[in-house]
Amino acid sequence: MTLWWARRDLRLADNPALLQAQADGPTAAAFAWTPALHLWSGRRRAHLARVLWSLREDTGGALAIRRGAAADVIAAAAREADAPVVWAAREHTPSGVREQDAVQRALHAEGRELRFVGSPYAIAPGRVLKTDGTPYQVFTPFSRAWREHGWRSPAGAADPQRFRPLDSDVDLDQQAAHGDTADPLESRHEFRESQVLADLHSFVDSDLPRYAAERDRPDLDSTSHLSVPLAYGQLHPRTVLALTGQVRTDAARMFESEIAWREFHGDVLHHHPSAQRESLTPVMPEDAWATGREADASFLAWRRGETGFSLVDAGMRQLAATGIMHNRVRMVTASFLVKDLHLPWQRGADHFRRSLLDYDHAQNQLNWQWVAGTGRDAAPFFRVFNPDVQADRFDPDRRYRQRWIPELDTPGYPMPMLDHRVEREVALAHLRQGKRPSKG
Ligand SMILES: Cc1cc2nc3c(=O)[nH]c(=O)nc-3n(C[C@H](O)[C@H](O)[C@H](O)COP(=O)(O)OP(=O)(O)OC[C@H]3O[C@@H](n4cnc5c(N)ncnc54)[C@H](O)[C@@H]3O)c2cc1C
Repeated sequence: MTLWWARRDLRLADNPALLQAQADGPTAAAFAWTPALHLWSGRRRAHLARVLWSLREDTGGALAIRRGAAADVIAAAAREADAPVVWAAREHTPSGVREQDAVQRALHAEGRELRFVGSPYAIAPGRVLKTDGTPYQVFTPFSRAWREHGWRSPAGAADPQRFRPLDSDVDLDQQAAHGDTADPLESRHEFRESQVLADLHSFVDSDLPRYAAERDRPDLDSTSHLSVPLAYGQLHPRTVLALTGQVRTDAARMFESEIAWREFHGDVLHHHPSAQRESLTPVMPEDAWATGREADASFLAWRRGETGFSLVDAGMRQLAATGIMHNRVRMVTASFLVKDLHLPWQRGADHFRRSLLDYDHAQNQLNWQWVAGTGRDAAPFFRVFNPDVQADRFDPDRRYRQRWIPELDTPGYPMPMLDHRVEREVALAHLRQGKRPSKG
């Protein structure tokens, strides 16, 4: 028997690690419910529980979900299955790499082997390099080289009959109950793999044509909503690209370019693991960040959506109520935290980590760096989003804001907590003072 270690690849279709395991014979499957999951919001954990529940159904009940560090869970599962080889997709985030190293050591100690095939990307991080063999620092040339490199066609689907059961010790129903929500958007975040594939097809057939014109409009909700299944690996980006590749429109190319951003961030974090916490370009003097009680109060107002800036507040409330936030609004809320409240980007990124259903370490940390102006390929440091101008431009009928802030047009809604023009100048002064060349 072999063992498939299910990680961020919770699907049967287009899953090379699972296919390799099945090619070796009957396959047991295990997922480690690690202590780190308890830092997630209840809603995020509930979503994972639902995804796992659905995958377990698709494996005929065989998938084992067990509490513990991955090294302990996978070593024990391999022992029970008497599997000499364990197959898994490779992770490229610092914690994913640490985890797979620990699993490898635990398996080796018992004379077993961990083999990798595949990754959560169309092209594994580290593969797209400049002609001199060094990594790209900037998105546009990376994306050109990424397209030229190309990717494989999707692999076939695994056979649901070839699994052999192992026991679980996590009560998924109990975990899923934490996520109960009256959110009417819930149905958009369907958790079954078959539904995810159906949603992908329906997006490409019906909504993709509008994507180019409407993707920046939070009120129109025209984006794909694929980040959630992509984050858990219910869907592989190669499957998405195989479908959009058949559509010869500008909207399809623009959509693929968003997937390329995902790949770029995966690549940057692979080459610069410290970017998960440290600014790639230290644009601010360290002592310029707000600290202490006042900073804590500002952070709380931001988190609760009580800043008096309606687009920021609507976004933060959407996040709190659903675990989702539109991309344009993520940029505006993140910019507000860094450039109006003068709080370090890491503090905002940590809040997103707990809350976002589509949380992806590389995407979150590097998008925060992009907005903060600390990334390698970041918005220039002097570009500061004006939250009111953004609101008028991207939510012109106020529908998005009215939806998330019921008291928007009443005296109950707070006055703006600061003067954006003043804080913008403060941020620019700090930045001018601190702007240094990026680290090598
Ligand atoms: C501060 C901040 C934090 C973010 N954190 C995350 C995160 O934790 N996880 C995450 O998946 N995305 C993150 N993003 C990127 C982006 O906001 C989401 O991917 C997008 O909103 C998801 O909605 P969608 O699937 O409908 O997007 P669509 O517009 O339909 O895009 C299709 C796909 O392209 C990819 N994509 C789109 N925009 C970006 C981007 N800017 N960077 C990387 N990939 C992108 C996603 O995989 C997305 O599913 C963040 C952006 C910002 C500004």
